[in-house]
Amino acid sequence: MKTTSFNIDDLIRPTIKTLKPYSSARDEFQGNSNAMVFLDANENPFNNGVNRYPDPQQGSLKAILSEIKNIDAKNILLGNGSDEVLDLIFRAFCEPNKDNIIILPPTYGMYSVLANINAISIKEVQLSNNFQPQVETILNIADNNSKILFLCSPNNPTGNSFSSQSIEELLNKFKGIVVIDEAYIDFSEEISWVDRLEAFPNLIVTQTLSKAYGMAGIRLGICYASTNIISVLNRIKPPYNVNELTQQRAVQQLNKKDLATNQINDILKERAFLISKLESVSFITKIYPSDANFVLVKVDDATKRYDQLIDKGIVIRNRTTQPGCENCLRLTVGTKEENEILIKELLSISKS
Ligand SMILES: *Cc1c(COP(=O)(O)O)cnc(C)c1O
Repeated sequence: MKTTSFNIDDLIRPTIKTLKPYSSARDEFQGNSNAMVFLDANENPFNNGVNRYPDPQQGSLKAILSEIKNIDAKNILLGNGSDEVLDLIFRAFCEPNKDNIIILPPTYGMYSVLANINAISIKEVQLSNNFQPQVETILNIADNNSKILFLCSPNNPTGNSFSSQSIEELLNKFKGIVVIDEAYIDFSEEISWVDRLEAFPNLIVTQTLSKAYGMAGIRLGICYASTNIISVLNRIKPPYNVNELTQQRAVQQLNKKDLATNQINDILKERAFLISKLESVSFITKIYPSDANFVLVKVDDATKRYDQLIDKGIVIRNRTTQPGCENCLRLTVGTKEENEILIKELLSISKS
């Protein structure tokens, strides 16, 4: 339980606090299922499946997510990918040219890109040698303008989860918002922090349909937080930010019971297979433990090995320029066939 007194109002940008949100036609008319004639939004009346504006609050989709994640729909906000959700969080809490955020490299690149777009400065505290947050250093570097701390767990590109003890201490002691990016949580044994929202009023958890749920193409990012935080984000989101096709497709896929679970299990089996085979590749010097659908490996010469794989038609991610990731390559777990091709080519390169 968060001990320090925490007031969300102290963190919201003044301009957002007093903002009068755009009120769409669909916002103003809700409910009443007797309504048959919609002449309020200047839509084309001829039905083609997408002639109407989408539900601005994505009610059906939130209802399913609420059930799957066992959390009230009022604690959910949806966006056009996690990237939109993260951008909304910046715009709600960070005053341009004044506030700062804290990130823990090596980590997901979008936090600093979004900070730069929003003219927010960045404080970096590199992860420790075993890629864990350095809690003391983070708390010491934070100042009164440090509005958001980003914790990516499981972390991209390292693949490990952060210790729950460290996360809890940061949630308790950091005075701003803590965003836990759980894009890879479904591949991990750790429990989601979504279950602990009530204990931490400064906690925002983000997830996505892009990874475990197999829907990167429809762009659906999920944000879980207190109703206070969700209502702030709702005021600034574009009214129809999640399009109709995305909402329909997400509902349709999520209704396929066990599909995601089965695919996740397959990917986890493949991850174990991949790791076991990587051990016999002579130029791989280290295989990092993974709680995600990718594996980080250290090699003798990352750029050389990356180029050799490209020549074989295999595209992986070269992470060698990331702090703490010298000569590291990130390998996404593919299908059985894809992983076998990867291993075959790695072995053939290592013998050439
Ligand atoms: C892939 C990924 C996301 C997902 O972003 P979307 O915009 O939802 O596709 C978010 N965070 C991290 C750390 C990721 O690796």
